Amino acid sequence: MAEEKKSPNQKLQEALSVKKESAWIRLKDNINAIYNFGEEYKNFIGKNKTERLCIRSMIEMLDEAGFSSIATKNALKHGDTVYKNIKGKSLIACKIGSDPLKLRIIGAHVDSPRLDLKPYPLYEDAEVALLKSHYYGGIKKYQWVNIPLAIHGIVFTKEGKTVEIHIGENPDEPRFIIPDLLPHLAKDQMKKTGETIIEGEDLNVLFAHIPIDDKDIKEKVKLNVLKYLNTAYGLAEEDFIAADIELVPAMQPVDIGIDRGLIAAYGQDDRACAFTGFKALLDTKDCRETVILYLADREEIGSMGDTGAESFVFVNFMREYIRKTGISASWDELLENALSISADVTGALDPTFKSVNDPNNVSYLGHGVSIEKYGGRGGKYSTSEAHAEYMHYVRTLADKHGIPWQTGEQGKIDVGGGGTIAMFMSRYGMDCVDVGPCMLGMHSPYEVTSKVDIYCTYLLYKAFFEDYR
Ligand code: MN
Ligand code: MN
Repeated sequence: MAEEKKSPNQKLQEALSVKKESAWIRLKDNINAIYNFGEEYKNFIGKNKTERLCIRSMIEMLDEAGFSSIATKNALKHGDTVYKNIKGKSLIACKIGSDPLKLRIIGAHVDSPRLDLKPYPLYEDAEVALLKSHYYGGIKKYQWVNIPLAIHGIVFTKEGKTVEIHIGENPDEPRFIIPDLLPHLAKDQMKKTGETIIEGEDLNVLFAHIPIDDKDIKEKVKLNVLKYLNTAYGLAEEDFIAADIELVPAMQPVDIGIDRGLIAAYGQDDRACAFTGFKALLDTKDCRETVILYLADREEIGSMGDTGAESFVFVNFMREYIRKTGISASWDELLENALSISADVTGALDPTFKSVNDPNNVSYLGHGVSIEKYGGRGGKYSTSEAHAEYMHYVRTLADKHGIPWQTGEQGKIDVGGGGTIAMFMSRYGMDCVDVGPCMLGMHSPYEVTSKVDIYCTYLLYKAFFEDYR
């Protein structure tokens, strides 16, 4: 009946205009699947707050799923499932297709903004022991004060013992904190800009408070800390130099909203995509093309370094792949012919800060997975761009599988921007597009995503892996 009442122009509008409909409405018959996926996701990112923890958990899950290290294989054939562990901080996992000359790659990153410890972090001042940190990635430093922090790391003792430290995630464990200045005495501080209200050298973490009982010792609290670290872990002060120790928000993922539609959690950039990509890989059955999940480290600082997407690690993996599958192609030919997704998050329109976005070209929470043609900043600098043919392929793929999707840019022109690993993947000549969920509060200690967007992201990654040419 409603159909009959539509005027010709209403029908025309319906046929020609972009429809912006909530994915919650479109997927209303899948509510249980969306919520269940959200629980699994929250559980994973709550337990894996560093790149090392993330890669270790994933390798355990790969081993359980029958994958093996590519190093243990002399030859690879259709149906084989292998991975390469890159220094415990990055990972390439792969299912060999029936046509091993064709590749489909999803690349995400497992590092997130955080506070690393300085080489000699421990000092005592004003009857407390503190740790000096050096922030990693693009953070608003003032967001990291007055929140509970947990510590995760690996240290090597002089004797060569490997020690892991994980404190602050379990309810009975202590937390750490960077106290902010009280408002009563913050008159000068409050006049500063957001960039300097808390400066890099202010990110000093409260670590201990009780002194050793000895009047002949100067830094009594510090010595008590060293004594504790030595008793508990066998560490001496110099061992901090042979360590990767990270401070992360101690909060666990939680549902947000009375309807439980949203998730707040630390590290969703980019473990939202790492997790959904990982699930998509595990759930991909019988792939015709070879499918590869690449989980890079160091994206948040520009992808530089031995475990970053700028390194040659991926190329080396391709060389090994070619050798062991026995195909006759070079790695550069294979990669040029590959199809890829740069799996990363994007900013959602924040109703309180609308002015930074073009409302027609921004992603909205709950409108499905975001497919973005390019990232970067004003004038399309520092980014790759998916060409029209490839955009057409990806949107058609989403539509074919009934997966709600949207598109946008991260911010108005010249307001800012952001990079992903898309430019490092596309430099081989492969097709590449940015695909992932949008979020509020990116790079903050508690980032917010929509459960339905996370689910749609998984669906599209899986559809991409299962498709073939
Ligand atoms: Mn990211
Ligand atoms: Mn980021």
